[in-house]
Amino acid sequence: MNPIEKVLKECSVMVLDGALATELESHGCDLNDSLWSAKVLMENPELIKEVHSDYFKAGADCAITASYQATIEGYAERGLNKVAAIELMKKSVQLAVEARDEFWDVTANRLNRPMPLVAASIGPYGAFLADGSEYRGEYGLSEDELVDFHRERMKALIEAGADILACETIPCLIEAKAIVRLLKEFPGVYAWISFSAKDGLHISSGESIAACTEWLNEHEQVAAVGVNCTPPSYISTLIKALSGHTKKPIIIYPNSGDVYNPTDKTWEKSTSKEHERSFLQWYEDGARLIGGCCRTTPEDIKEISSWAQMELRSNN
Ligand SMILES: [Zn+2]
Repeated sequence: MNPIEKVLKECSVMVLDGALATELESHGCDLNDSLWSAKVLMENPELIKEVHSDYFKAGADCAITASYQATIEGYAERGLNKVAAIELMKKSVQLAVEARDEFWDVTANRLNRPMPLVAASIGPYGAFLADGSEYRGEYGLSEDELVDFHRERMKALIEAGADILACETIPCLIEAKAIVRLLKEFPGVYAWISFSAKDGLHISSGESIAACTEWLNEHEQVAAVGVNCTPPSYISTLIKALSGHTKKPIIIYPNSGDVYNPTDKTWEKSTSKEHERSFLQWYEDGARLIGGCCRTTPEDIKEISSWAQMELRSNN
């Protein structure tokens, strides 16, 4: 059975974690860097483990590892050879597994919740470029080239013992196709595919989310489909667009609604009231995995998990 199916058998909603980078920054890390949180993997791995622990304590049923921007190519630019880069990718999984196992060793932490999963983050090609193209998806690469780009990291993350792969912020269908094709080289491994969206109906490239979802339907190793790193105001419409076209669990982890400026790598605080989150609404629309992306914190996750405990798990 795939790991998400297993969790959703136990409880009606799976709570994901929130932003890793935002938490690392609030602990004093300078992430204004093309490697982003992958830089902290090199410099301060224990802090990453601490942030994973904080999210488990806040109620997350899943940790997403610090490998989003960790690539052989990216680390090579810092003078690391391939062996060292692969070690760091594996380290990202080990840190989350250690945090999860230590958390789960305490009996009191197991009350009324499933054992948390470790999802290994696979960021898009655009995240390696670090130029914001993960929100546009115009890479000019072929599907074959994208398969080659993703292969080594996917292999390393699987070997390190991740429970599932979090293929996230995917801006275009061709990259989802490349990832799914690559997944077939690793039978028995499951992944979720989560797109970044530009509005309530289209992923970042402009392709219809309904069409992308339909393409994913027939692939058994895809354990959930959905959207992340997208303003909360689009989420409800996106879930409705997804739910009409798939039977797979729908995953959503929007950002906080603050707007990222990829050129100077800063955030503008959202002033709109539109980004008020409504977990119950999202659940009723069909979402089954709910969490937060950029600029969300353990406090946000605590809000989601408290809601889930109260509304959905109280009868268990
Ligand atoms: Zn994000």
